[in-house]
Amino acid sequence: MEHAEILHRCFRCGYCKFPDNYVDLNCPAYLKFRFETYSPGGRMWLLRGLLKGDLQPSARMQEILFSCATCGNCVNHCTMTGFKDLLLEAFTAGKEMLVQAGKLPPPVRDYLTPLLEHGNPFKLPAKKRGAWAAGTAADLYSNQEYLLYIGDVGSYTDRGRAMALSVSELLGRLGVSFGILGAREISDGNDARAMGEKDLFEELARRNLDLFRSAGIQKVITLSPHGFHALKNGYAALGGELQVFHYTQILAKRINKAAFTTPEPPLKVCYHDPCYLGRHNQEYNAARKILFSLPGIQLVEMERHRQNALCCGGGGGNFFTDILGGGADAPARVRVREAAATGAQVLAVACPICANMFEDALKVEGLEDRMHVKDISEVVLERKISS
Ligand code: SF4
Ligand code: SF4
Repeated sequence: MEHAEILHRCFRCGYCKFPDNYVDLNCPAYLKFRFETYSPGGRMWLLRGLLKGDLQPSARMQEILFSCATCGNCVNHCTMTGFKDLLLEAFTAGKEMLVQAGKLPPPVRDYLTPLLEHGNPFKLPAKKRGAWAAGTAADLYSNQEYLLYIGDVGSYTDRGRAMALSVSELLGRLGVSFGILGAREISDGNDARAMGEKDLFEELARRNLDLFRSAGIQKVITLSPHGFHALKNGYAALGGELQVFHYTQILAKRINKAAFTTPEPPLKVCYHDPCYLGRHNQEYNAARKILFSLPGIQLVEMERHRQNALCCGGGGGNFFTDILGGGADAPARVRVREAAATGAQVLAVACPICANMFEDALKVEGLEDRMHVKDISEVVLERKISS
């Protein structure tokens, strides 16, 4: 294991579990289970025991290692500047060891097998990928300026499809030249990589890069921060030379106060920073700039925001595997309670996984009457854009 030399250097001070202001636990796995082994420091200790042969990769050990939501809070908040940047790589390398040994929790296997066999974890046909675009103005890609890349959750979940529709409609209304791949789109592989399936990630990346090259695609807008991270960083490491943008970055460039001249009723909104846009790629401002441009919007911040945002719990494949599970301490439920405490009527999101996770959590928490989950593009489209 490449990162073995950092494991013994963690002295389990525990700062990695918290945000800057220490208001609550901020490692979603530790927040949920409250056992040291689920914390970043505990994971280091487990991996050390595994490498030394003192511990066996039991079912319990597998579940703990795969419960990491890859949120990056530990990387941001570890006090050890000498190795903090390698923490997540070490945790992923630990999962790679288990994948190579065939020691996987059943829900992880249930994610990876259909991804390998069907090209998506939902076991649905590729022709359904572009179904959301039927009857809309979104055309198939043919030399437009951008590819709009939707991804698995945007293509195959109801909430994701609604988000794809709204982002696509807004891009069209703002005059952005884009096309989609529809049935030809291939999974970005980000969650496979986070689950330690490096070979599958690299195969998907190469297939995507070949497809993009053959179609002449150089600029990509992604719906999901997970796809954004894979295409921008993971594919670049494999020779990809794409210009990759999250859709909020494109909207932030095109939307300003001048685009809205009609007064709108007041609406209190808080914004949840998705981990793969914020902590993983330091993009904290695009969504906020859009919200600041909109008439009637009062942006309020949750106690934990920007680099301190609590993950929705869906990263690292947990959206699919649900290893973090439910209950009052499930990260998504804690997060919607935090959002509701701001008094906001809208919890704005910029990720189809967050949207799914928080809508479910609002229902379970009984907060649906007080607050709605809306994608940034949906908040914009509810306002009158001047022509
Ligand atoms: S902050 Fe860093 S050194 Fe301290 S327990 Fe966490 S990973 Fe270990
Ligand atoms: S990446 Fe997030 S979930 Fe994983 S150990 Fe670090 S803080 Fe916890």
